[in-house]
Amino acid sequence: MKKNLGTICIHGGWKPSKGEPQQLPICQSTTFRYETSDQMARLFDLEEEGYFYTRLANPTNDAVAKKIAALEGGVGAVLTSSGQAASLFSIINICKSGDHIVSSNNIYGGTFNLFGVTLKQMGIECTFVDPDWDDERIHASFRPNTKCFFGESISNPGGKVLDFERFVAIAHSHGVPIIVDNTFPTPINCRPFEWGVDIITHATTKYMDGHATQVGGCVVDSGNFDWDAHADKFPGLTTPDASYHGLTYTKAFGRKAYCIKLVTHLMRDLGSIPAPQNSFLLNIGLETLHLRMAKHCENAQKVAEWLQANPKVGWVNYAGLPTDKYYALAQKYMPNGTCGVIAFGLKGSREEAIRFMDNLDFISIVTHVADARTCVLHPASHTHRQLSDEQLRAAGIAPDLVRLSVGIENVEDIIADLEQAMAKMD
Ligand code: PLP
Repeated sequence: MKKNLGTICIHGGWKPSKGEPQQLPICQSTTFRYETSDQMARLFDLEEEGYFYTRLANPTNDAVAKKIAALEGGVGAVLTSSGQAASLFSIINICKSGDHIVSSNNIYGGTFNLFGVTLKQMGIECTFVDPDWDDERIHASFRPNTKCFFGESISNPGGKVLDFERFVAIAHSHGVPIIVDNTFPTPINCRPFEWGVDIITHATTKYMDGHATQVGGCVVDSGNFDWDAHADKFPGLTTPDASYHGLTYTKAFGRKAYCIKLVTHLMRDLGSIPAPQNSFLLNIGLETLHLRMAKHCENAQKVAEWLQANPKVGWVNYAGLPTDKYYALAQKYMPNGTCGVIAFGLKGSREEAIRFMDNLDFISIVTHVADARTCVLHPASHTHRQLSDEQLRAAGIAPDLVRLSVGIENVEDIIADLEQAMAKMD
């Protein structure tokens, strides 16, 4: 039976049979027992599916991955120990030293650093592009050794909406997949696969969990990118893998090749699985994702309108505001709402942002974002403090930008807290 997203949030991934637990059980075992050596050998040869070691697969982790795959409409998903690991693995599953990627410059600071610094140290070069550049300039950033385009559906912290159709067309014209970090709108508000995106990543740490209880990530595959049509670019998927007795992933696993390689190759060699306990906590969060996202958007819309009407506020970026540069794209790709994250700047110097935040009552200063509790951050002083002013501008972040992650408390109280913090600045 085809199910709607709210039903998948609750029932996806785990269907107990007679006498089994109603709630997804935590399978806290590193390993799984077999009766004959041959049974185990068949698993190692990938001839049969089954559990043998939690670094490669675990029933609790798998159930939650299946739920997220169903929410995104993908053929498979793999959970990772953090959002950072998901971003890294999504790339190195198809890139090796000597390769190149193109990425939007409007991305989370940690991802910006991972691509610009750490991938470079691994021999993978990244060219950052401003998604607002014209097509010609974006096309010119691709090279013969480019292996993918990466962007965020709604950028953290700038709140810019990626034009999926445009970037899908650009990436595919160069014979490479497009990978989108869909952390902020979540599949409840935005389903990038329906617009041609090939691979999705998530920091499940954020809205999917929603209660700040675990750090985690996920990579989801649409199964739609034709690796064999560009076989010379993706030898890891399309030619025999010596470490798996000459098995070729696309031949053996068809549309699931990318996900299976991510587990059997990257998880085998690099690790980075979540603890089953964390997947259990994530699953509890997912059960209310559809309810929470609607409330985050309703509250954020009211707060954004209040900020926009406030004389102390210099500017507000929120794609739900009709005056926002990305309003039309948001209406097209996420018509039911975007997310709860607002970027704004106070009039005056960048120190005003710091004074304002120090005056807040229950709204907390945390590095975290996309949580049930309203929280605030000044990226130039916190998450992005490793970036120079020039790099901040290159990443589309104004030095005065305050990131306000609107929670699901009573909105009148959120606005009252903002109001009293601003009043104390007079
Ligand atoms: N992607 C986005 C959009 C994020 O906001 C973050 C973290 O804030 C990450 C990825 C990285 O996730 P994690 O902190 O779980 O490693």
